[in-house]
Amino acid sequence: MIFTILTLFPSIFESPLNETLIKKARDRDLLQFNIINIRDFATDIHRTCDDAPFGGGAGMVMKVELMHSAMEHVNRVYGRPRYVLFTPHGRTFSQETAARFSRIPHLALLCGRYEGVDERILSLVDEEVSIGDYVLSGGEAAALVIIDAVSRLIPDVLGNEASPVDESFGEGLLEYPQYTRPREFMGMEVPGVLLSGNHEEIRKWRRKESLRRTILKRPDLMERFQPTKEDASFIRQIMEEME
Ligand code: SAH
Repeated sequence: MIFTILTLFPSIFESPLNETLIKKARDRDLLQFNIINIRDFATDIHRTCDDAPFGGGAGMVMKVELMHSAMEHVNRVYGRPRYVLFTPHGRTFSQETAARFSRIPHLALLCGRYEGVDERILSLVDEEVSIGDYVLSGGEAAALVIIDAVSRLIPDVLGNEASPVDESFGEGLLEYPQYTRPREFMGMEVPGVLLSGNHEEIRKWRRKESLRRTILKRPDLMERFQPTKEDASFIRQIMEEME
């Protein structure tokens, strides 16, 4: 998969895209990154990227023509990607969006700065994405979040290290609790069933704990969840245990 990042601050990406999972995936040609400096498309001697807002007010607005020239360059050199613009008012990024993006061969991420990009950019992009209800100073941190969540869903990127299948949000539930050695820590014991070696019992325990955690911590996720017969019986037990 190819990620093209359009940014005014390319050096932000140097270290995060050169470590661990992403680094290994790049070395194996599973991931490719094109980092485009929007400033390279400025035409005046000062290489201006922003300007004062029409109508007045604080801050500066990123110019649309530079973004457009940068996009034309990307289209020419790599073919037209799917363009995602980061804004706080876009659709909130989720595991579902991550899965959808992981099936797109070439995704371009447009990072805003200052007060954001001139509104006319919307006619050039395919979608707007937000990573949550807060305001960042730039889209770069959002790009790193998306790259991290999407990359690990691309076949072979995680290798055998983990499977994204039964992870949190995968099926609309949170993941079950995990434990490792030691068996006892400060008087707290690992649940006995996990030491039993009985795979069916372990599976059932994990499923039930996954349901319990979701009910307690993210009841909103339960509204969309489709329980099986077994799930329904676990949910009844959990409710009884809570009384
Ligand atoms: N004035 C704007 C905020 C601009 S923040 C407003 O109030 O809506 C500057 C840039 O940071 C944005 O253009 C966007 O690219 C990025 N950004 C800020 N918050 C974000 C969020 N929650 N998700 C994704 N990108 C965000």
